Order: sequence, then structure tokens, then C-alpha cells
Amino acid sequence: MTYVVNDSCIRCKFMDCVEVCPVDCFYEGENMLVIHPDECIDCGVCEPECPVEAIKPDTDPGLEKWLSLNAEYAKVWPNITAKKEPPADHKEWEGVEGKEQYFSPEPGTGN
Ligand code: SF4
Ligand code: SF4
Repeated sequence: MTYVVNDSCIRCKFMDCVEVCPVDCFYEGENMLVIHPDECIDCGVCEPECPVEAIKPDTDPGLEKWLSLNAEYAKVWPNITAKKEPPADHKEWEGVEGKEQYFSPEPGTGN
């Protein structure tokens, strides 16, 4: 089992989650974060930290696609362990449904 970041994170990227992860397994894309499924120890500490409920256990239904995406991009995006400023327009994207279309495969800058 692992925890997975879904499209609720896209363009929100508050990064409250990264500071609590004991094994530093978050990776940063241009407009969302992912969790490395092989590094996550399933502690669940990050789940309640996310204000937009973007972090889910992979036992939740319908997350297969996001689990694959997390696994794929955790290998190529930079590690992130410290909170940064969210995008200036993040409030406008909070709670917006169907943000998958805005996913960017480009990496973030990490830390
Ligand atoms: S707290 Fe939630 S929205 Fe923010 S970066 Fe983490 S997973 Fe994404
Ligand atoms: S469940 Fe624990 S180990 Fe996994 S990403 Fe969240 S804080 Fe990190």
C-alpha cells in the first residue's frame, strides 16, 4: 500500500504535506506533487495535512491511474522536502473538478 496524490493538487500545490513526511518521498512537478510509492511507508501523516484532500490511500477506489502517474513521475521529478510559496492563483483552483486536463509533465524546481 502507498498514499497517492490525485488531480486535486494540480495548480494548488500548497505543500503542507511535504514537511510532515518522515521519509521525504514527495516529488515536485511544475503544477502538482507526487508520492513515490516504493518510498512511502504508509504512515498516513500527510493525508489530513492536505487542505484540498488530494492525498488518498491507494486502497480507495478509482485511483489506479493516479497511482501509475505518481510512480512514473516520482522517478523523474526532483525531491521536495520543504514548503514553498503556492502559485499566486492557487485559491482560484481550489476545489475545481476535473483538473486532469491541466496536468503538466514538466518538473518543478525541488529544493
Ligand atoms: S498539501 Fe495537498 S494540494 Fe498541497 S502540495 Fe500537498 S498534496 Fe498537493
Ligand atoms: S503516508 Fe507517510 S510516508 Fe507516505 S507520503 Fe504520506 S507522510 Fe510520507
